[in-house]
Amino acid sequence: MKKNIDVIISKEQIEKRILELAEEISRFYKGRELIMVCILKGAVIFFGELAKNITAAVKMDFMRVSSYGSRGSTSGNIMIVKDLELDIADKDVLIVEDIVDTGLTLKTLIGVLLARRPASLKVCCLLDKPSRHKADILPDFIGFSIEDRFVVGYGLDFDEKYRNLPFIGAVKN
Ligand code: 5GP
Repeated sequence: MKKNIDVIISKEQIEKRILELAEEISRFYKGRELIMVCILKGAVIFFGELAKNITAAVKMDFMRVSSYGSRGSTSGNIMIVKDLELDIADKDVLIVEDIVDTGLTLKTLIGVLLARRPASLKVCCLLDKPSRHKADILPDFIGFSIEDRFVVGYGLDFDEKYRNLPFIGAVKN
């Protein structure tokens, strides 16, 4: 374990919660095929762990968006750096996100994907910071609600570091 990181959610807690989420999602999409959309890079570890425990038929695709505002001042203006390869029209689509902070990025992303006329569009996030929400969106499946603290690990970075930590932690000041 890195000594400058406080563990906030352990590997075991995350793995247990992902199994519960996968069960919930499998039940919801039972008998249907869904396209899971991984929002790069932060969701990548969560996405893999979640997908392998879902029993409904799954197709995977990947998208990377960048926000115009600097960290801490998300504006909701996004640029699509890497777009989907699959056509999502008339498909059941599940966006898989790392964390919802203000929710502005997600709100814009939802608008972009809804314009492509999916049959349904839902959102699953590993972490949610409800006290920071500015956009009127609520993820359909949430791993953990956390307080307003900058977290790293399990895909989340600080300056591109710490993504491979198997737990969620906070960098000590
Ligand atoms: P939002 O538009 O919801 O304010 O911003 C969401 C994005 O900001 C996330 O996808 C993530 O990239 C970044 N972000 C928000 N909070 C955190 C955090 O605590 N840790 C890290 N590493 N990224 C965060």
